[in-house]
Amino acid sequence: MRNVLKVLVSSRIYILAILGISLYIAISQLHISLWFVLLGGAITGVVFGKVFCRWVCPMGLIMELMMSLSPDGKVRQMYQYHKVGCPIAWISGWLNKFSFLRIHLNQDSCITCGKCDKQCYIVAMEPQKFSLYKPGMEEPGSSYTCSKCLQCVAACPNGSLKYSAKRKIS
Ligand code: SF4
Ligand code: SF4
Repeated sequence: MRNVLKVLVSSRIYILAILGISLYIAISQLHISLWFVLLGGAITGVVFGKVFCRWVCPMGLIMELMMSLSPDGKVRQMYQYHKVGCPIAWISGWLNKFSFLRIHLNQDSCITCGKCDKQCYIVAMEPQKFSLYKPGMEEPGSSYTCSKCLQCVAACPNGSLKYSAKRKIS
């Protein structure tokens, strides 16, 4: 399962390209109502959290391509962190706290290597406030800003972070 997640995370931009272009065609050529897109974004938010922006959205694809041209990684981080997005982002970002699948830490097996935090743009922007593994700090995965890139989970060397339905993992 972990290997599947790693493949998905490393292929995310291609998945976003396929889904984003398909959605654009559905909206522009098949005249799918934006209300259906909004409903779909909200439903995926209930199950997965805020996955729409970085896995499905055509605008998200354009923004990512533009940001990849930026030589300054800070600009990319700031966009990812501060984007206020659209109604889908507002709803699904809020649902990050309540979604069925969420990022969970097994503190017992964590070796505090910090690799997860190094992958996270939320931690990069506010290292005093957020951490995926440090006790007493806010979980970035539950914040509005987390767009479920899942790079933190993929980076964990021993599976202490999981994107799952269970609150406690072993
Ligand atoms: S999925 Fe992980 S690395 Fe990506 S933004 Fe959320 S907490 Fe940070
Ligand atoms: S990458 Fe995994 S083992 Fe390392 S600090 Fe994060 S949760 Fe702990």
